[in-house]
Amino acid sequence: MTAQIIDGKAFAAGLRERVGTVAADFEAKAGRKAGLAVVLVGEDPASQVYVRNKGKQTLACGMESFEHKLPADTSEADLLAVVEKLNADPAVDGILVQLPLPSHMNEQKVIAAINPDKDVDGFHVVNVGRLSTGLPGFVPCTPLGCVMLLKDQLGSLSGLDAVVVGRSNIVGKPMAQLLIAESCTVTVAHSRTQDLPEVVRRADIVVAAVGRPEMVKGEWIKPGATVIDVGINRVAGAEEGKTRLVGDVDFASASEVAGAITPVPGGVGPMTIAVLLRNTIVAAHRNAGIALDESTI
Ligand code: NAP
Repeated sequence: MTAQIIDGKAFAAGLRERVGTVAADFEAKAGRKAGLAVVLVGEDPASQVYVRNKGKQTLACGMESFEHKLPADTSEADLLAVVEKLNADPAVDGILVQLPLPSHMNEQKVIAAINPDKDVDGFHVVNVGRLSTGLPGFVPCTPLGCVMLLKDQLGSLSGLDAVVVGRSNIVGKPMAQLLIAESCTVTVAHSRTQDLPEVVRRADIVVAAVGRPEMVKGEWIKPGATVIDVGINRVAGAEEGKTRLVGDVDFASASEVAGAITPVPGGVGPMTIAVLLRNTIVAAHRNAGIALDESTI
């Protein structure tokens, strides 16, 4: 292997430490802790694990965690009423409604009900608009985490060719916006892209957010490129009945060619919750009117 491994786990731990320091300072100035409310509807096992981890890490950073667990048959109107209550609660700085929601609910409508200034997931259309116009808002956690890792690895990204594979609202599109803001030349590829290997081959930065195990091969990568693998795919393991996690990039071949690469697990994955906590402490300062140099976290 020639590529340097980008250690997202270590970076996320450092970020959580910085958030903890800022959270203690916020408590001293505001006379209360910053607070994150997480709303979970139903009993999806993966969502339950995420929510538990978010709660634990929020408390570990010295912030309040408010968990609202609602049964799967909760009506949309009742969920909207919970969101309204959280919007009005001064102890709540950030609100996250865990997705996916049960099929009888309209996710867009629920996200639109969150106060954009408490929308620490950055999914509200107001925050999407702020990101695309360069106004301060909240940026979705996973792509913001990817940019933090890229800047930590490369310094300035200005002028670099970036290819984002995937155009979802939660990863691909905001990732492209962030890279444009960093003055990269950005190409967004998707399932209709022609000759994807050739498109990827011109990139100094490759971000793979596809959801297809090990799709991006080493021979697609320009030698020395930086590869950010957002994919989390569970596949059959070597042992009967066991599974393992792999990314959207074929790590074995790509790490022979890339200059630097995120592993799966331990790359982008740990960044998401750490950035959520960062967004929450930023929201707390903005909502309380307390100055914070956001570039320091
Ligand atoms: P998604 O909503 O399913 O979007 C996938 C994107 O990949 C779509 O834009 C799709 O194109 C494109 N695509 C699918 N097949 C393709 C192909 N053969 N060639 C080129 N493009 C193709 O997925 P997502 O929510 O963005 O998530 C992507 C991956 O990231 C998943 O593995 C997910 O688990 C992971 N993820 C990780 C984190 C984390 O680390 N914390 C957070 C979020 C997501 P079309 O638009 O044309 O259909």
